[in-house]
Order: sequence, then structure tokens, then C-alpha cells
Amino acid sequence: MNILLLGSGGREHALAWKLAQSRLCTKLFAAPGNPGIAQHAELVALDATDHAAVLQFCADQRIGLVVVGPEAPLVDGLTDALRAAGVPVFGPSQAAAQLEGSKAFTKELCERHHIPTAGFVRVASAAEGLAALDRFGIPVVIKADGLAAGKGVTVAMTRAEAEEAVADIFSGKFGAAGAEAVVEEFLAGEEASFFAITDGHTIVPFGSAQDHKRVGDGDTGPNTGGMGAYSPAPVLTPELEAEAMTRIIAPTVKGMADEGMPYSGVLYAGLMLTKDGVKLIEYNARFGDPECQVLMLRLESDLGELLLAVAEGKLATLQPPRLSPDTALTVVMAAQGYPGTPKKGGAIRGLDAAEATGAKVFHAGTALTDGQLISTGGRVLNVTARGASATEAQARAYMAVDAIDFADGFCRRDIGYREVAREAQ
Ligand code: ATP
Repeated sequence: MNILLLGSGGREHALAWKLAQSRLCTKLFAAPGNPGIAQHAELVALDATDHAAVLQFCADQRIGLVVVGPEAPLVDGLTDALRAAGVPVFGPSQAAAQLEGSKAFTKELCERHHIPTAGFVRVASAAEGLAALDRFGIPVVIKADGLAAGKGVTVAMTRAEAEEAVADIFSGKFGAAGAEAVVEEFLAGEEASFFAITDGHTIVPFGSAQDHKRVGDGDTGPNTGGMGAYSPAPVLTPELEAEAMTRIIAPTVKGMADEGMPYSGVLYAGLMLTKDGVKLIEYNARFGDPECQVLMLRLESDLGELLLAVAEGKLATLQPPRLSPDTALTVVMAAQGYPGTPKKGGAIRGLDAAEATGAKVFHAGTALTDGQLISTGGRVLNVTARGASATEAQARAYMAVDAIDFADGFCRRDIGYREVAREAQ
């Protein structure tokens, strides 16, 4: 079977690496891909927003499965166009992707189906937003409704900060994503991510992870797309995972199907482990980046088979996916200046030496110029390793990081610190 993978980040490099190993994969294409993905796939210059061009490519290359990496093509309805043309696709429909694309949609779905989440008010103007602040006290959380690349959320610790966040959203700076907002009750606890794969009916758990959003060690500095992650996250115990499945994931999948928007793909739940039980913070409609990298390093069964079974609605006929009990940990190497204005063009050397340590280096923002690997800015490499514990995986990942020569790059030195501290006790 020929497979087309859409995307160009570290998440897609990890998916490409596993898809290329699938017994079902004859040829893997990736659009637009990156130099790391090019080790496993033929890169094609396809624009995912041009649905007609993607359909034509699928027909020309007899594509048997399309795998959509990032969220934008999902929210944009590419999967609907592919399904309508009879092309099996891994990724939810445009309607189902509202679980990620609209925070108000998800909060109201939770309300209708009694799914535990923070109390909320949906607001459509700054005046309504200010009025809603009184209802929850301080701290309080204010979120632009639509996709804002992680920048539309404020956890306000003072009233002034909360008022500023409301004004900011309705200033128009988020465009259509900020036409509405959600004001939410603050939840205290530790966060964990949980992944489930579903074809709309059958659901299989796909592991847990914790990520590190802040740019600096000790979770300091501005938010980023993610500076590292590890999986599993033992803080999500088997009991809490079962609670998340029965009280959050299963009612969501059933609710979406009952409401005529069956959800098919990976459901990535951001959870808060509160003293009153597990609560949903948010859903994402695709694999996390960099969480996907650690999940793929743990995956021992065939990814192509799994994603095709989901695309064809036959997940019930497949053995559940097998994840290694090992810990996988990934360290993001970013270009200096990130998440502000990153330095571009820095030379990268030593990836072979890094992989000789047993680690896997996934490419995110890289390019090849005259045979030299360079950084294209932002998040550049994901150095990923496995070990019997988080402590061992962390040591191996940093050994590989230290073998890489990337003078214009930096990384956090404490990825996995929560779990490493727990293991030291
Ligand atoms: P991202 O793109 O970073 O995943 P997002 O923009 O989709 O984020 P959320 O995940 O909903 O937004 O919120 C971002 C972060 O804000 C969460 O990871 C969590 O740390 C914090 N947060 C969100 N909602 C709450 C809440 N109700 N109580 C406490 N913290 C919250």
C-alpha cells in the first residue's frame, strides 16, 4: 500500500519512521516533509490546503492511506474531502475536529454528556467577559475560543491580569479565533496527557505523557510549542487512566457519535489530576508534538495497520497496540531566540554520533543546503531515547544531545525532572 503523510515537524518524522517499518507500507510519500522524513519517504511539494491537488495526487499514486499530522488540515476539512472521494484517511472530520478547534464546543459537549471539566462561561464581548470574572474569583483562566497556537490562554493570578486578558482577546489580535472566549474555573493539580485511538466506536488506550511547555529549566520563561516530553507519565496511575477512559474519553466518543459527528483518529486529552478526580482541560485532535516522538519510540506493534484500521472503521478487528513499558524521553533542541525570533541557518553536525549512542534524532526545523544540515529556526531537533526508567532515558537522551554540534541551538537540561525526582525518592 502507498501511504501519504502530511506535515513537516518532529511529530511527522516520528510517524514516518514507524510507517516506513509497517508491513503494509510499499511506498511512503510525505508532503512537505523535512530532511529527516526524507530518510524514510519520498518528499512531494503538495499544499495540504489545496484539496483538489491532494485528491489528484492520491488518485495518481494509488494512495491507500493518508495520515494527517498537524491540526490545521483537520480543522480545514481535508479529511472530509478525502473520505468523500473514498480515500482512507487517519484523522477526524472537520465537524469532529471542533474538539480541538473550538473550546466552547468542547465545553458544551462536556456539559451535555456530564464529562468532568472546569466550570465555564462562554462570552462574546469584553463586557460579558468582565462580568464572568466575578463568578470564578482568582485565579481564573481566560481562553480565546479558536486555535491560537497556545497563545490564546491566560491563567490569571490577579484581577488586573484577568481584565487585561479579556481586553486582549476582544482587541481583535487573534482574528476569528478571538471572536468568542471562554472564562474558566482554575483547576489545581498536576497535568498529564492521555492518548486514545478510536474509529468512532472502538477505543484503545495509547499511553500517557507529560510535556514541558516553558522555554527554561524549572518551567520558567515564556510558553513554547513544547521543549520536551516523556512517556509514560506514571502520575497517571492505572486507576486514574481507567477513570479517564470511563468518565472522559468513552462519553466523548459516544457523545460525538450520538450527535452525528463520529470522532475517528487520535484523541489527545490534556488532563488535570485534581483532588476531586481527573478533569479534562482540553482536547487535541492529533498527536502532540513532541509527545508523538516518545509514543512512537515505545510503540512495538505495526503503526500502518493501526492507522488503516482506524481509517476503515475496523479497529475492533485488530489486536490492541503494544507499547513498551520502558520510558521514552525526548529533548527538543531549538534555535537560539526561540520562542521569540529564532536564529536561522546555524550548522548542525554530529547526528550520527548522537544516534550511535542508541538514541533516535527526529528532525523538526532542519534543511539541507549544499549537503550541510542547517536549522530553519524554531524547534529544530528532537533527541529521543528509551530506558528502563525516566532517569535512564533522561541520561541517554542527554548523552546523545551532547554528541550534537549545534552552536546556534539550545535545550532545556531538566526534561523529565518531575519523574526523575519521584524515582530518586
Ligand atoms: P496548548 O496549545 O498549549 O495545548 P491551548 O491553547 O490549546 O494550549 P489549553 O491546553 O486549554 O490551551 O490551556 C493551556 C494551559 O493552560 C494548560 O496546559 C494548563 O496548564 C493551563 N490551563 C488551562 N485551563 C486551565 C484550568 N481550567 N485550570 C488551570 N490551568 C489551566
